[in-house]
Amino acid sequence: LEAYKTEGSLTLGDIFIAVKTTKRFHQSRMELLLDTWISQASQQTYIFTDEEDGVLKTRMGGHVIFTNCSAEHSHQALSCKMAAEFDAFLASGLSWFCHLDDDNYLNPRALLKLLSSYAETWDVYLGKPSLNRPIWASETLPNNQTKSVRFWFATGGAGFCISRKLARKMVPWASGRNFVSTSELIRLPDDCTVGYIIECKVGGQLIPNTLFHSHLENLQLIPTSQLMQQVTLSYGVFENKLNVIELSGPFSPQEDPSRFRSLHCHLYPDTSWCLQAAGW
Ligand code: UDP
Ligand code: MN
Repeated sequence: LEAYKTEGSLTLGDIFIAVKTTKRFHQSRMELLLDTWISQASQQTYIFTDEEDGVLKTRMGGHVIFTNCSAEHSHQALSCKMAAEFDAFLASGLSWFCHLDDDNYLNPRALLKLLSSYAETWDVYLGKPSLNRPIWASETLPNNQTKSVRFWFATGGAGFCISRKLARKMVPWASGRNFVSTSELIRLPDDCTVGYIIECKVGGQLIPNTLFHSHLENLQLIPTSQLMQQVTLSYGVFENKLNVIELSGPFSPQEDPSRFRSLHCHLYPDTSWCLQAAGW
């Protein structure tokens, strides 16, 4: 079912990476990402937030996008940010759109390997299904009646990617103000709305992929030996416990509670602060 491109033709430069954040996470979450994986993909990464921040701007320059969306956890505010990400991607002209939350670690090498196995001229929507079954939603029709709709969607907290070919077909429902209106039609969050647009409006399909991870799954279950192949990882609280990947060092859990610094050293051992941590 997969169309293989000529090997090596896709580069990181073809991928638009959007990270969603909010003012209260600029320090606690974004600094960690900037120190780790974003340092390996800074030309491709754009940060979407809701408040101007000099420190962030100094580190990321024009790659920080101040959205004017409200700093709330409401469906509307989050959909407003997703719309900003989507529009910036369309304007970029790049081949792939990947969305991430600010508690995701993205491995650019694993991402490139994964996306290289799909032709960018195909309709591709890749991610981790949020549920083990399609979600049912009630869509409001123009006559105010409702209709039951059913679709799969990729959980935003694990990250997902969409090919430009598919993104262009999504424009009538996803660009500009349309995204927020579409999300209001089904009264569900931004990631559900993406799935709804792709599966119910465009006629596309989520391709489930096990290399994307959110903190809503037990991250300890990923074998340490397979961490390098994962496209995204995460950290957070799950069932009242800290949910992080299993990795012994070089940093202690006190120094590196998310384990992202240790993971980064695992992937990029030549990083200066990794060599120091290892006592070189
Ligand atoms: N977020 C946001 N505005 C808010 C709260 C959260 O943009 O008011 C973003 C946050 O930066 C993160 C994503 O939404 O990228 C998910 O937030 P969080 O991890 O706190 O919640 P979860 O849904 O994973 O429990
Ligand atoms: Mn989260």
